[in-house]
Amino acid sequence: MEIDRPPGRLVVVSGPSGAGKTTVLRRLAECAPVPLVFNVSATTRPPRPGEVDGVDYHFITREEFAERRRRGEFLECFEVFGREHWYGTLLGEVTTSLAAGKWVILEIDVQGALAVVERYPDAVTIFIRPGSLEELERRLRGRGTESAGAVRRRLEEARRELALADRYRYQVVNDDVEQAVRRICNILTQAEADRDAR
Ligand code: 5GP
Repeated sequence: MEIDRPPGRLVVVSGPSGAGKTTVLRRLAECAPVPLVFNVSATTRPPRPGEVDGVDYHFITREEFAERRRRGEFLECFEVFGREHWYGTLLGEVTTSLAAGKWVILEIDVQGALAVVERYPDAVTIFIRPGSLEELERRLRGRGTESAGAVRRRLEEARRELALADRYRYQVVNDDVEQAVRRICNILTQAEADRDAR
């Protein structure tokens, strides 16, 4: 017999690189109050060491990306600023997860987030911000993996993204990971209660 599952919900998470998004989301996965699934985007960028195809991203060629885009397979897709590569959310994977009652996390950039909200106005949108730009700069330099020029570019990108943060329903400051995770758990619990009340 078919189980009557509630439909899932889209949760869009953005924030500048260096704001600690990945750490917060990893921790969230361990304690979320709703059944979360992390959507896997497609990208034309090559895998970094340790990244696994189908887990971190679906790594595809520019040709395949263009073809799938032409066929309308993306919920949203963009050439992400400063990266010179395409990134996109595959509609088929998202709708399958939503139909299974999952809360689907899309970790995407600001232009992607705005495009998703056009199609799914009830998506829960969360912008994770660093404590301050100084803190962000410290973290980016502390990684030690990027040149001074690359750090400067990331900071420019961060300023551009921060300028659009108020387009998100929620902003969460990540100056303490546990607090940021708790805040997101509260947002998700509230979103579920609001929907149940409708
Ligand atoms: P990275 O190459 O460092 O994994 O990600 C670069 C940027 O692409 C990040 O800002 C990330 O949020 C964004 N991104 C990842 N997947 C998608 C996607 O499917 N759509 C959009 N619009 N942005 C994405």
